[in-house]
Amino acid sequence: DEKHFVGTVSDITISVYEGDLTQEKVDVVVNAANERLYHAGGVALAISEAGGQKIQKESSEYVTKHGTLPIGQAMHTGAGKMPCKYVIHTVGPKWKDHADKETVQSQLYEALFNVLHYAANRLKARSIAIPAISAGIYGVPVDICAVQLVLATQKFVQSPPANNTLRDIRFVNIDGQINSAFVRVFSGSF
Ligand code: ADP
Repeated sequence: DEKHFVGTVSDITISVYEGDLTQEKVDVVVNAANERLYHAGGVALAISEAGGQKIQKESSEYVTKHGTLPIGQAMHTGAGKMPCKYVIHTVGPKWKDHADKETVQSQLYEALFNVLHYAANRLKARSIAIPAISAGIYGVPVDICAVQLVLATQKFVQSPPANNTLRDIRFVNIDGQINSAFVRVFSGSF
């Protein structure tokens, strides 16, 4: 993968990479899932295919037991055959569902903020790889997406949880244009 941007805040490195998220050698890969945790397209399908049947099976069992995963919330499954240990699934907002674009922005912020705390508190993860949540099929303009992901990351690194384990936060984009926008927004933010 090509590493484009690195910043460090209180021992936590923040980077932007162009590459395939499913191949990252990190503790946690984040999935931009839908509420039914049905991994049929985009990065969700890529993760489901790379990891194997285990991911969809555990996801479906979760929905049967707990119901759908609300926008902005997080749960995790194993990672199957991927190099990472866990997949944290979160649900971003859909651009077209909200006339009020501030709602989209706050839900996207909340999704990543919850994911980072989940990774640190529940999974004691050291490293995490994150896609451009909501910037694909869900239609959020990439600059708006990147700004909210920056704001949530800044909030996390400025006041990390007690005994924080996270040291390596990576944003990984398979699409070159999305990645360029991320590099632009992330540069100078950390
Ligand atoms: P959403 O439905 O939340 O919009 P998508 O899965 O459609 O999520 O897309 C989120 C982003 O993930 C898009 O920018 C897409 O290009 C990107 N993406 C798709 N596959 C991969 C992958 N294997 N690695 C990294 N990013 C990916």
